[in-house]
Amino acid sequence: MIQVPRGTQDILPGESYKWQYIEKKLHEIAKNYNYEEIRTPMFESTDLFVRAVGGSTDIVNKEMYTFLDKGDRSLTLRPEGTAPVVRSYIENKMQHNVEQPVKLFYVAPMFRYERKQKGRYRQFVQFGVEAIGVEDPLIDVEILSMLMHIYQSFGLKNLKLVINSIGDMESRNEYNKALVEHFSPRIGEFCSDCQSRIHTNPMRILDCKKDRDHELVKNAPRMYDYLNDESKNYFETVKAKLDDLNIAYAVDYNLVRGLDYYTHTAFELMSNADGFGAITTLCGGGRYNGLLEMMDGPDKTGIGFALSIERLILALEAEGIDIPNEKGLDLYVCTMTDEARDLAGTLLHKLRNRGISADMDYENRKLKAQMKDADRKNARYTIVLGEDEIQNQSADLKNMQTGETKKLSFEEMISTMEEI
Ligand code: ATP
Ligand code: MG
Repeated sequence: MIQVPRGTQDILPGESYKWQYIEKKLHEIAKNYNYEEIRTPMFESTDLFVRAVGGSTDIVNKEMYTFLDKGDRSLTLRPEGTAPVVRSYIENKMQHNVEQPVKLFYVAPMFRYERKQKGRYRQFVQFGVEAIGVEDPLIDVEILSMLMHIYQSFGLKNLKLVINSIGDMESRNEYNKALVEHFSPRIGEFCSDCQSRIHTNPMRILDCKKDRDHELVKNAPRMYDYLNDESKNYFETVKAKLDDLNIAYAVDYNLVRGLDYYTHTAFELMSNADGFGAITTLCGGGRYNGLLEMMDGPDKTGIGFALSIERLILALEAEGIDIPNEKGLDLYVCTMTDEARDLAGTLLHKLRNRGISADMDYENRKLKAQMKDADRKNARYTIVLGEDEIQNQSADLKNMQTGETKKLSFEEMISTMEEI
């Protein structure tokens, strides 16, 4: 038997309503903040990710689904959303849009060849936003408040927002030098990834999952002490504005994030819920000044975040929050005879064309079983068609909640259902 590929999942009918509900809500909140949807291809030139995400990251080193197409082009299934969005911004010259920043969002599957575990899939759906074109702490705060708004709107309470500043390029370079000095003498005690990170991107040693308890990680120099005045001001302004909005956060000086292109504000949102499991990060993001230039684009800056719907659902489960199931039928038509089944078919055709959701039994079951089926399908109304009903061209429309019935001709029934 052929099975679903490792690390992927079918989202079955009994589950898909959750996704629909969440995606609808995400669209609504994006609209509140005036972000518009962008859809980019599922695959891109491999070069895009190698350049934009960076050769020293896990994504590029270990996790990409890369293949040659029949024209010998190296393509990669999209592992993250920022690089494609920025590629599109540059390619479509959005820096000339009248409105800046250009505020975009996406809901799209991402692909990473990772070790499968709870909350970690090889195909997962990310919702992400990007505000590109303006550097202003107000936008950083808008992004953070949208992020909190999203999770709180689902009723989640055990949330922890962690922020840090990575500073501008100048500060970042100074800091990296200090880290090299700090780690070099004892780098042999670190994992092989960290031994190469010290040459490619020393900051990422702080992010290493294997070496996080090493004493040198714990007493590493703090980024904050290497921020130049401008970077420090930027960070202080963001924090002050978060305070103004009563958005709670903690500062974590070791938060560096996995991607190479971050500057200034970096953040993650974690779940504090008991029983969430080992992976507690729900969402990550940050400012990426320098990314557009690095991709031969205009001298513009951006900020964004990405969350996965899979982990959002885990967080909801951990906090015992049910997602409303809006499943239901307007009308279920029960049938007693073959003639009635024919009539039901015609009736359903008319009802559905007027926007009324309706269904019937297709298995020739007994009336009792059909009523059970109507119940299972959450039908708001039912009718029963038998010989009398065909004779009189009318039926009793039954409200399943109140039990009330009303005798109506088929035409009256359609218009009554339409009104309801
Ligand atoms: P992690 O440290 O968990 O590997 P990451 O730094 O690789 O996370 P990002 O690239 O920042 O994650 O992606 C943003 C968000 O997407 C994460 O916070 C997480 O919610 C989600 N995410 C990342 N990888 C996966 C995955 N393999 N399956 C499901 N969700 C994921
Ligand atoms: Mg990862």
